[in-house]
Amino acid sequence: MQPVMEFFLDDVVQLRKSHPCGSDQWLVVRLGADIGLKCCKCQRRILLPRSTLERRIKKFISRGPGHTSSMDAAAGNK
Ligand SMILES: [Zn+2]
Repeated sequence: MQPVMEFFLDDVVQLRKSHPCGSDQWLVVRLGADIGLKCCKCQRRILLPRSTLERRIKKFISRGPGHTSSMDAAAGNK
């Protein structure tokens, strides 16, 4: 079983490629088949397919409140 990467509103993620503005940190602002991200520096919004985002993500900077309820699932994933 592949672990499923979950995203929640207000998560802040770091991507492998930085935005032209220089920031590589994005705030999750929309969930769905496509994930809405807002650049933390220039506030520009983009939409990425979930599969594309999973490949581009480098790490989570911080997790939104929605993540707390699924901490149990991630506990064995250190
Ligand atoms: Zn930007």
